[in-house]
Amino acid sequence: MPVPEDFAEAVLTLAEPAEGQAVVENLWLSVDPYMRECMDGDWELDTPLEGRSIGRVVESRSAELPIGSLVFHREGWRTHAVVSAAEVRVLPRYDGVATESFLGLLGGTGLTAYVGLTRIARLRAGETVYVSAAAGGVGTAAGRLARLLGAGRVVGSAGSPAKVRLLTEELGFDAAFDHRTGPSLHEQLGRVAPDGIDIYLDNVGGEHLEAAIGAMREHGRIAWCGAISQYSSGSAPAAPRNLFDLVEKSIRLEGFLVANYRQVQAELEEFLVPHLRAGHISDRLSVTEGFDRTVDAFLGMLRGENTGKSVVRLGRGDLESPCDTP
Ligand code: NDP
Repeated sequence: MPVPEDFAEAVLTLAEPAEGQAVVENLWLSVDPYMRECMDGDWELDTPLEGRSIGRVVESRSAELPIGSLVFHREGWRTHAVVSAAEVRVLPRYDGVATESFLGLLGGTGLTAYVGLTRIARLRAGETVYVSAAAGGVGTAAGRLARLLGAGRVVGSAGSPAKVRLLTEELGFDAAFDHRTGPSLHEQLGRVAPDGIDIYLDNVGGEHLEAAIGAMREHGRIAWCGAISQYSSGSAPAAPRNLFDLVEKSIRLEGFLVANYRQVQAELEEFLVPHLRAGHISDRLSVTEGFDRTVDAFLGMLRGENTGKSVVRLGRGDLESPCDTP
């Protein structure tokens, strides 16, 4: 597990924006499990860290980035950034939809869940869906999207009794179990899905994947999204040991990266915005206040302290919600 001492906060002078560039003041930062993997070599030492962010243009030398516009960009984990129009998305303003949704249901988190269910697992009406890390960002999105997309039964696993209650009492899961205590995952999954599962959205890998393969019906589909149980483990996982069940039960297992499905973003917004406006679904965010608590938010998320998508609110981010009408 990473520790706070792995990170340092630095004060740097921002470069003057060149022609075509703008200065963005960050309002919201995202902290994500993939960043743990970046710490194994992708992130360079002593350089500002990347990450999904939402900010407001405060100074501009670009006609495409007028002052005041809200933009999504990947220059995260900093208070300000100099960007060009090609590096950002100027966010649409949907009446009644909060800006920070573009880090949640309308962002990579929601898109991951939507792609996993519609493109990879190809969910059909009435099917039983199992989601692991179900109380997290992708998990809460997947559970509620599965319901909107017509799933029959939706079950999940999460890391505490409080999270299990949240899933079943507030987030529309039919049943859930605590993966950190109690009998084996295999037994607990059998209890919440006695007739087996058709679809598994896997956020955890390892023993969870093995239990899901064991509980899967014939012609089931596994959308393998992440393996958070192994990012900090330092060794290859022992499970799954039952991979040959894929053959015996004609199961399809497919891994995917949301980065390869950016073209589905417009469809996600078309599908979700009416549901968001109607209150059929709402963003579930774990908000940490203040830039200097970004590392705390990241480490807390890895430990499971978040429910819903983990984000950091900087300064005046609260003034940006909800969005204005276009
Ligand atoms: P989450 O909000 O789900 O936060 C991570 C959660 O993982 C924690 O809250 C914790 O919940 C759970 N967790 C931590 N350690 C373990 C463990 N050892 N066993 C089981 N659960 C654990 O993060 P995200 O929603 O952002 O990401 C979820 C998964 O989706 C990750 O694996 C991530 O890498 C993946 N992902 C993949 C993408 C892709 O393109 N394929 C895109 C985005 C995310 P709890 O208390 O319940 O244990």
